[in-house]
Amino acid sequence: MPFTAPVTEQRFVLEHVAGITLLGVDDDILDAVLEGAGGFAAGEWAPLARAGDTEGPKWSEASVTMPAGYRAAYQAYVAAGWGTIGSPQSAGGQGLPFALAAAVLETLGGANMGLALAPTLTVGAIEALEHHGSPEQKSLWLPKLSTGEWTGTMNLTEAQAGSDVGALRTRATPRGDGTYGIQGTKIFISFGDHDMADNIVHLVLARTPDAPAGTKGLSLFLVPKFRLDAEGNPGEPNDIRVVSIEHKMGLHASPTCVLSFGDNGDCVGELIGPEFAGIRAMFTMMNNARLNVGLQGVQVAEAATQRALAYARDRVQGARAGAGVAIVEHPDVRRMLLRMRAQTMAARALVYFACGQVDRAAAGDADARGMLDVLTPLAKAHGTDLGCEVASIGVQVHGGMGYIEETGAAQHYRDARITPIYEGTNGIQAADLVGRKLALVPALIAAMRAEAADAGLIALIDACERVVTHFAGADADDRLAGSYPFLTMLSVATCGWLMERQERIAAPADTPFQKLKAAACRFYVAQIVPEAQGLTAAALASAEVLYAVDAETLAA
Ligand SMILES: Cc1cc2nc3c(=O)[nH]c(=O)nc-3n(C[C@H](O)[C@H](O)[C@H](O)COP(=O)(O)OP(=O)(O)OC[C@H]3O[C@@H](n4cnc5c(N)ncnc54)[C@H](O)[C@@H]3O)c2cc1C
Repeated sequence: MPFTAPVTEQRFVLEHVAGITLLGVDDDILDAVLEGAGGFAAGEWAPLARAGDTEGPKWSEASVTMPAGYRAAYQAYVAAGWGTIGSPQSAGGQGLPFALAAAVLETLGGANMGLALAPTLTVGAIEALEHHGSPEQKSLWLPKLSTGEWTGTMNLTEAQAGSDVGALRTRATPRGDGTYGIQGTKIFISFGDHDMADNIVHLVLARTPDAPAGTKGLSLFLVPKFRLDAEGNPGEPNDIRVVSIEHKMGLHASPTCVLSFGDNGDCVGELIGPEFAGIRAMFTMMNNARLNVGLQGVQVAEAATQRALAYARDRVQGARAGAGVAIVEHPDVRRMLLRMRAQTMAARALVYFACGQVDRAAAGDADARGMLDVLTPLAKAHGTDLGCEVASIGVQVHGGMGYIEETGAAQHYRDARITPIYEGTNGIQAADLVGRKLALVPALIAAMRAEAADAGLIALIDACERVVTHFAGADADDRLAGSYPFLTMLSVATCGWLMERQERIAAPADTPFQKLKAAACRFYVAQIVPEAQGLTAAALASAEVLYAVDAETLAA
């Protein structure tokens, strides 16, 4: 089934939710970028999505080989300049707003989610280098990362250090010439090796000798697959071994690698930023990556919705008014499809809204910084939860055929499932919200209150405020016990606010786009917002309920 980029919808949300026109992007550029990316992704990347899933990358001692067609499709992306959209102008990029770059990435990932993970990680590496790299590092590495000629990776995870990043053990030892010898094994490294680009720039968290324990002792290193020669071109291979690639539930097109650094004692890395400032630099990378993972929820939701709609309009079962009908005409199938539409729009609104704050914060808006900080866990966790929900409904719409691989509905479901796990699990996002971000919630609530009109939406906002007040006087365990339900409540309230705004702006509902927007927004506010209010009891419940039985009894 062909993928079509939702250009009209993206443009509308960029304008009315992300505030793109206030960021100085003129209409012609906006249209050219969205339509151009849509045409490219549908023509070059979407046709490979199925083969990526069935064939997958191949590992050998020497390298990882991508499925047939992937290298060419990636090179076409680089040649057409799609990598440069959001890259800094100082490094040869176009420097367009992050929100617009996110829309392009949404389109690429809607067409082929596995392949789009490569540029997603490269964007993070660019961010970390731009903010924390030395002038020399920037001039050596950024230009080729900015075009996508080289790709970037993010190396945190080790067998004993997943959510607990501070437990990592990879070592970085000074070599006496300003560089460091890197030694250790990282697991689950996305696009840790592949044959699509001429070099791979690994950003690796490691410990220098005598580093303090925990995250305070972490430093960030740039460790290239190929060291650069005197002309700045990839030369000698670095001492990095791809031990294996994982056999995963989904996202098969993306090689997830175990990387062993320094088996022969000759893996050279350079420090990015000061020693022990690694976690801060990595957070620069992770924060944007978190938004872009939330965006993966939008990608998969859009693709799953398009597929389910095509099937539901075609598959005939049962009758209404005496005549055989396509299943789209049955009320319960309508409910599923409208829910898919509404949740996809809601996820897009939430993530684009957060991306717009990145641009405003970069332009010096201090309020936007706080708003971004509170929106980041919401966009990551709720965006990805919605991706999973929508992909699951997509399987249901297909009936038995949804469980059969040929339809592609199952692939969306399998691909979506990693997104609530990586880039900080959604549980960790909820902990972040009720820990470091709680003081920022009232500003978000005030912004919602200034505009919300629907009584149910206002009631949900009131409920969120009640939980915030309760958390302010609660101990840490009680806050953590209610963190996930609260994250969902606050996310749905934010989406409800942004959906209600879109409904107002889309009126009168004359064109098909306006009619769909009105129907989906009304459905969201009338049916999904009240569901979230039902989570209030769980958000307010104490940790005592959860510890009513010990771990042994829980498993009895
Ligand atoms: C396909 C794939 C791609 C990946 N890509 C990368 C990559 O490119 N780079 C990279 O560095 N890593 C990558 N990862 C690793 C990923 O980020 C981790 O899997 C993730 O952070 C969770 O760590 P873990 O698997 O060790 O789970 P654990 O940390 O063991 O968590 C297990 C469960 O316990 C919960 N939990 C753990 N600690 C807490 C806590 N303190 N409070 C509440 N709940 C908690 C978690 O939420 C989760 O539900 C990838 C993983 C996969 C599967």
